[in-house]
Amino acid sequence: MSLNCEMTMDLIALYHDGLASASTKAAVAEHLKHCPQCRENYAQYRRIYRMPKGGSMPPREGETEQEYRLLAAKMRQKRMLVTLGFFAYVCVSLCLTAMVFLKSRKEPSSSFYDFEKNKFFL
Ligand SMILES: [Zn+2]
Repeated sequence: MSLNCEMTMDLIALYHDGLASASTKAAVAEHLKHCPQCRENYAQYRRIYRMPKGGSMPPREGETEQEYRLLAAKMRQKRMLVTLGFFAYVCVSLCLTAMVFLKSRKEPSSSFYDFEKNKFFL
């Protein structure tokens, strides 16, 4: 399959993103090899495509990036909440365990205190 310049430029985005089929890729690569004009266009395309935010990036890309950032922030927040919740749970259970332990230690172990008569042996 041989491509003309117009067809090559139509396919260049797919080619660049690796979304073209193997035969299309081969055809585009073949055309680029022999056509300095398309090579130059492709180089320009790559420069534009790689330009950071604020450059001539298409707005859809920026939006997508922002969405990803929002999503990542939300996920971080959720993970932090889960971690905090877990620590709170651990703290509360430690406190409860300590309270139960301290309380249970007081009652039967005080050999010099008679609970029925409510007074000390001494
Ligand atoms: Zn060409």
